[in-house]
Amino acid sequence: MTVSRKSTYPFWTLILALAIVQFGCPNGGGGLPDPSAGLYHTYAELDAEMHALAANHPGLAQISSIGKSLEGRDLWALKISDNVASNEDEADVVFVGGHHAREWISVEVPLMIAQHLLENYASDASVKNLVDQSEIWIVPMVNPDGHNYSVTTDRLWRKNRRNNGDGTFGVDLNRNYSHEWGGPGSSGSTYSETYRGPSPFSEPETQAVRDFLQQQAPKALISYHSYSQLVLYPWGHTNSPAPDEALLRQMAVAIADAIRAVHNVSYTPEQSSELYLASGDTTDWLYALLAVPSFTIELRPRSSSPGFELPENQIVPTFEENLPAALNLIDWAIQQSNVTM
Ligand SMILES: [Zn+2]
Repeated sequence: MTVSRKSTYPFWTLILALAIVQFGCPNGGGGLPDPSAGLYHTYAELDAEMHALAANHPGLAQISSIGKSLEGRDLWALKISDNVASNEDEADVVFVGGHHAREWISVEVPLMIAQHLLENYASDASVKNLVDQSEIWIVPMVNPDGHNYSVTTDRLWRKNRRNNGDGTFGVDLNRNYSHEWGGPGSSGSTYSETYRGPSPFSEPETQAVRDFLQQQAPKALISYHSYSQLVLYPWGHTNSPAPDEALLRQMAVAIADAIRAVHNVSYTPEQSSELYLASGDTTDWLYALLAVPSFTIELRPRSSSPGFELPENQIVPTFEENLPAALNLIDWAIQQSNVTM
């Protein structure tokens, strides 16, 4: 700013500037408002909501960090169970979201599942029954750095925020898991949207999920993504059927049926590779490790219009149609534990 322009500002702007210096900015001092994602949660809002859920439901909900992102954000997990502070011999079921930054609805659905379980525990006997017999883990945002970048800078950002050192940024976290890492449907080019990273589990975010899942050894998992309305089961890295293809298909069909029963919206159940080959994703890795049912649900919408930018008025119905399938999966895991005892 030049000195000559100084006189064009009225005296009250000086008073205002002094007031801001004196009393601080209502948004925390940076002068910029906190980023907003409308009715979708920013990382800060998710952080606050998950801590509030844990604080408001002591004994039923416990929050912990499973690790940190590259930029140092905690990867929050909410455990939901009776006697939540103790590790009981109950079926663990994991709902994870937000591997891909721009897929905002994939954060909301697992968060709303947590809210539903906690807010209906006291009044809904079927919810209490599930929560009492299982240990449910909600990890709604695996890629907070990418999500934040999607909110503040580039709505359609997909990868994490790794500086690849060549002018490009980002590793596709859902190509960074180790099972058949480097195979078809992943890229070795740093420029690619499906860049797999320099080595399996090169990223702190996937390392955290790996360590967490190895420790919990869940009986079942759903990894939420968007979009396309699909229920995908392993394998993704090959067109060959998985060893438990019949069971996986049967469960995927049941999930799709449960979804359709709510709002008559169709999600197509199919082997992941039928969508396209993809190597190094969460569900192939977990299935290879534990041979437990692991699903990728591609949420609304069906097509590229509106694609990743799902209108806010579809957040609640997307949650509603996915809730019964999630509850059914918890119930299935409980039955499995009882059978194998
Ligand atoms: Zn995705």
